[in-house]
Amino acid sequence: MARFIFITGGVVSSLGKGLMAASLGALLQARGYKVRIRKFDPYLNVDPGTMSPYQHGEVYVTDDGAETDLDLGHYERFTGVSARQSDNITSGRVYQDIIARERRGDYLGATVQVIPHVTDAIKNFALADQGDLDFILCEIGGTVGDIESLPFMEAIRQLRNELEPLQTLSVHVTLVPYIAAAGELKTKPTQHSVRELASLGIKPDILLCRAEHPIPEGERKKIAQFCNVRAESVIQALDAPSIYSVPLQYHGEGLDSEVLRGFGITDAPEPDLSAWDDVTDRYFHPEGEVTIGVVGKYVGLQDAYKSLNEALVHGGMANRAKVHIKWIDAELFENAGTDLAAELEPLHGILVPGGFGERGSEGKIASVRFARERNVPFFGICLGMQMACVESARSAGHEAASSTEFGSTQEPVVGIITEWMSEEGIETREEGGDLGGTMRLGAYDAQLAEGSLVSRIYGGETMISERHRHRYEVNGAYREALEGDGLTFSGMSPDGLLPEIVERPDHPWFVGVQFHPELKSKPFAPHPLFAGFIEAALKQSRLV
Ligand code: GLN
Repeated sequence: MARFIFITGGVVSSLGKGLMAASLGALLQARGYKVRIRKFDPYLNVDPGTMSPYQHGEVYVTDDGAETDLDLGHYERFTGVSARQSDNITSGRVYQDIIARERRGDYLGATVQVIPHVTDAIKNFALADQGDLDFILCEIGGTVGDIESLPFMEAIRQLRNELEPLQTLSVHVTLVPYIAAAGELKTKPTQHSVRELASLGIKPDILLCRAEHPIPEGERKKIAQFCNVRAESVIQALDAPSIYSVPLQYHGEGLDSEVLRGFGITDAPEPDLSAWDDVTDRYFHPEGEVTIGVVGKYVGLQDAYKSLNEALVHGGMANRAKVHIKWIDAELFENAGTDLAAELEPLHGILVPGGFGERGSEGKIASVRFARERNVPFFGICLGMQMACVESARSAGHEAASSTEFGSTQEPVVGIITEWMSEEGIETREEGGDLGGTMRLGAYDAQLAEGSLVSRIYGGETMISERHRHRYEVNGAYREALEGDGLTFSGMSPDGLLPEIVERPDHPWFVGVQFHPELKSKPFAPHPLFAGFIEAALKQSRLV
C-alpha cells in the first residue's frame, strides 16, 4: 500500500503549496520512488472549467479530458506523471455525487451527513487507484481555518488514524514574515497556524516555513518547541530565484530526507538530481535571448497562461536561450491610435494563445497578419490557430470570414461541429448546451502530413496525441480557399474531418494548432513545438 503525504497551508494563501508538492514529488521520484500527486479543492464549483481565468488562473486539462486546477500542471511538469481526472476533487464534485446518490435512494433512508458521507467520499478519493505507487501526495487547497476546508481536514484526521502508524505524514506550509521595523523574523503566525491545525486533530510532522530571510537556528528551535516538531523538521523555504531551483533548494534544506525519516525509511537510495542540475544550468546560463509577444486577452494575470509561460521557458531551455515574454492585450490593436508595427517589430516571435469570446479577436487577427506579411515566426494555439485561419480566409478574399463563436456570420471559417468520430466512436456536442460540458476535451490523435514542418518537428512521427479544450473547429469547407492562400493543413484528425494543424510553407515558421501543446511540455522534455518556435525566434533575432 502507498504512503500518504498530506500537505496543508497556513497563515496566508499563495505560499506556493502546489510548487512545494510538485518539488517534493520530484525529489522522491529522483530517489526511484513512484509518486502521484492529488489536489483537494474546497470550493463548490464541480471543476474549474467554468471559472474565469482571472479568478482562478488557467484550467489545466488532462489526457482523460478533465478540467482541473492549475496546480496539476505543476505536478505534471515536475514529475512527468500524466495527471488524471482522479487526481483533482472539489467540494462541488463530492456534493454532486452524494446528492445524485441520495436522489437515487442509494442511502436506503439514512440521513446523509458531512461525517461520514462527505468525509468518506474524500477518503475514497485519496485512497483510489494506488496501483504500485510508493507515495501519494495530497495537497489541500486553501488555508487552515477556512470553513470550506473543514471536511477535508477531518478526512485527513480520520485517515491518519485509520492507516498504519508510519503510513502517513503531515506537512504544513507556513510563513515566517520579516518585520523590517523590528529587524526580526516572526514565528507567532506559524505557532497560531499549527495550533489551528492541531485543534482539528492534525499534528504536523514537518513544517515548511516560507521566508524572505534565512531563519536562524534559535528561531527554528523556538518554532520546533512551540509547534511540537523536531528542530530538523522545521525546514526553511527561502524565496527561490526560479521555480526550477525549488527541488534542488528544498533538497539542500533536507526536506526529502526528513520526509523519509518521518516514514521510518532509512535505506532510501540517494537521489539522482542530474535532470534538475541540467534544467537549472540551462535556465541560469543561457547563451542567447529572444523576446516573444503573446497577444491575448487575459494578459493582466500571468496565472491565466501558466502552462504557456512555462512551455515558452522550456522552449528556451531546449535552445539554451533566455525567453523574455511580452504580454500584449489584443484589444490594444483595436484602438485606432495604436501603432501595431511599432509594438510588434521588436519581437522575435508572435504567439496568439487560446481564449474564449470575441473580445480582442480583431487585434489577434491583425497580429497574425503582421507575422505573416513580415515573416516573423508565428505560433497560434487553439483560438490562435482559428484566428490564423480567419486571417488567411480574409486574405483569400473572404472578407467577412469569422467564427460563429462571435455571432452569426456569412463566412463561418470557424464553426461548431455537433458530431464527430473519435477513437471511442461518434461523439456529439450540443449547440448552446451547458458551458460545463460541451467541449472537445482531453487527448485526441492527429495525423501529420508527410514532409510537413510539423512532421519534422515531431521527429518524423505520423500520428501524435495532444490535449484539446475547445468548442469550435476550423471549417473543412474552406480548406481549398485557405490552401490557395498558402496555408496548408498539415495535421488532421484520424478520420480526416477536423483540421488539427495548419502551417505556411512559404514562411520561416508559421504554425497553428487546434490543441494545447503547452500542457504537455516539461522542463526536462520541452515540447518540440515550443523548442522549434524558439529556435525560429533565435534565427529571427539574428536578423532584426
Ligand atoms: N474559443 C475557442 C473554442 O471554443 C478556442 C478555445 C481555446 O482557445 N481553448 O473553440
